[in-house]
Amino acid sequence: MSMYAFKDEERKIKVLARDAYRENKAVRLYCPNKKCDAHMYICSREGSSSFYFRASSTYGHIENCRYGVGNGFNPEKFNEATFDFTQALSNLTTTSTPQTKKLHPGTHKEGDSTLKPPHTIRQIYDMCTQHHYLDTYNDIVIGKMLLYDESIDLYPNDTDVTGWRLIEATRCKPKFYKPGETNIYLVTSLYKKKYHFVLKFNDGNLYTTMQKEIFGNKDNKNLKIIVAGEWSHFTTENRNVENKFTATILSKKQFKIMI
Ligand SMILES: [Zn+2]
Repeated sequence: MSMYAFKDEERKIKVLARDAYRENKAVRLYCPNKKCDAHMYICSREGSSSFYFRASSTYGHIENCRYGVGNGFNPEKFNEATFDFTQALSNLTTTSTPQTKKLHPGTHKEGDSTLKPPHTIRQIYDMCTQHHYLDTYNDIVIGKMLLYDESIDLYPNDTDVTGWRLIEATRCKPKFYKPGETNIYLVTSLYKKKYHFVLKFNDGNLYTTMQKEIFGNKDNKNLKIIVAGEWSHFTTENRNVENKFTATILSKKQFKIMI
């Protein structure tokens, strides 16, 4: 469910779901994906205060459109007010499920306080991609959470990339691994700027799991590799390598292979 759309075919006049409900619901809007001609309309579930855009059944999304139904983020299923991005990513690096505090049954002020914030890598990724990159989720700028083709303008310098972040990348070509090492080499699939990422592993089994999963899909042109990590500069001989970053992968929860 897309949280934004455009009023014009050129995709210059953006409209956010939270503003669009005031406008005429019968007016056709455009999918953020320029290649997709889906007819989008603002809608909401009855009795709900959250709005989103949906394509008409007659003029739906093209195959693999990022904003199609299968790539859904349903804002009604998550608690935005308790979303803490750094904490959420930090939790993905733990091998066990962190204990969440149980809310006392009498303390609920609103119905949605029983909902969890987005917490799996897929949920956080979907939440980000369904919003415009300059929009916010619980006051955090979307494009600062996810480095991908849409948000690349927020990353002009290397220092913009370091820290906790989700990245959307693809495998390095021709090789994304080297025999005798436990590193995986990724690159952003961006046409504007290329950033390189070296994933390091302490656990050989975890390395093999990810390496095999990428290898099995290595020739798929839709291959996207989503990684959550705390990125730092990749160094060699104590010098930062330009446009290259590294993070240690400690848990399977930190990556998602999408085709
Ligand atoms: Zn679309």
